[in-house]
Amino acid sequence: MAYLNDNYLKLKAGYLFPEIGRRVRVFCEQNPEPAKRLIRCGIGDVTEPLPPAVTAALHKAVDEMGVRDSFKGYGPEQGYEWLRAAIAQNDFRAHGLDVADDEIFVSDGSKCDCGNILDILGHQNRLAISDPVYPVYVDTNVMAGHTGDANDAGAYAGLIYLPCTPQNGFIPEPPAEHADVIYLCSPNNPTGASANRAQLEAWVKYALAHQSVILYDAAYEAYISEPGVPHSIYEIPGARDCAIEFRSFSKNGGFTGTRCAFTVVPKTLLASTSTGERKPLHPLWLRRTTTKFNGVSYIVQRAAEALYSLDGKAQTRALIEHYMGNARVLTAGARAAGLTVFGGVNAPYIWVQCPKGLTSWQAFDKILGEANVVITPGSGFGSKGEGYFRVSSFNSRANAEEVARRFQALKW
Ligand SMILES: *Cc1c(COP(=O)(O)O)cnc(C)c1O
Repeated sequence: MAYLNDNYLKLKAGYLFPEIGRRVRVFCEQNPEPAKRLIRCGIGDVTEPLPPAVTAALHKAVDEMGVRDSFKGYGPEQGYEWLRAAIAQNDFRAHGLDVADDEIFVSDGSKCDCGNILDILGHQNRLAISDPVYPVYVDTNVMAGHTGDANDAGAYAGLIYLPCTPQNGFIPEPPAEHADVIYLCSPNNPTGASANRAQLEAWVKYALAHQSVILYDAAYEAYISEPGVPHSIYEIPGARDCAIEFRSFSKNGGFTGTRCAFTVVPKTLLASTSTGERKPLHPLWLRRTTTKFNGVSYIVQRAAEALYSLDGKAQTRALIEHYMGNARVLTAGARAAGLTVFGGVNAPYIWVQCPKGLTSWQAFDKILGEANVVITPGSGFGSKGEGYFRVSSFNSRANAEEVARRFQALKW
């Protein structure tokens, strides 16, 4: 008899986006005319095509693969040296940060990396996770058996939830209790908040004092517009001894369908064996990668490399400016409608308080029914997301402007 992994049965997951899909389908069936003007601001997926520097690199790499002399079979599992060097140089060393080429691990996505990293961490770790949160951090820990069951509010026993509220600017503070592994995401999905230097310093101080590991998700790093907001956890002294950073080409280069990301594991980062010996995590992640992964395709790594060319950098900037222009339009529209809006300055998401004490789903239904706009209910990201909704700026400018107009026409 084969046993299944019981932990999967604890998952509340798959609830948020399927439920949005279900409500949108019902609405469209019952309201065929309004359905024609439906605008989706729900899912966090880019809408604009790949930058021309990337498509040129893709074509060139495809042609190389079709010629015996330049054909490539398996590449290094952790990524080609030229891409790791381009990343370490452009994203870190050019900003004065000490990151070596071989501390970069190229992968097919940060979502995968955030889940896979659990392979090299012990099952006995106490986990601290913000609320609301990108569901991947919670669900991968549930799958690995690191939690108890969920309660009615969807909170799992055994996790330390870090509430993110207007009082703390949606940036969690280090808890009074001990945590071994801490998930931080800045700029944040879903709240659009970004941690400042002092906030990150407090976390690094906590992690060093507790010998904990910070898992720092910087997928939206490129969206930071305010000076002084850290782009990397490694801007904070001591972070090389306590943090792993995840970055992705999905949101800056429009790679959500192309798939390429990377993880930084400093060689100075240690964790404890079950007998209390301190050992580096870098060799474990290298071993995990070479054993369970065969690398990102040559073609896609060449595409990612092109983002670091002069043209690639300018085109990436333009993409981000497009989305952040949408964020400004949406923020202004929502504010003009009398709504209280957070985020949208260093991140492509705006986080809106539901007016009149409505729940997230009540606001969702009203906005769908009356404005024919799909947003994401905040409660789907955690209990502290109740009473908020997320609006994504990943859209055309015309759609963002239309959504801003419809927000203002709504009568709450
Ligand atoms: C989009 C996103 C990522 C990127 O995931 P990929 O697998 O690289 O596409 C990572 N973290 C967060 C919070 C995200 O929203």
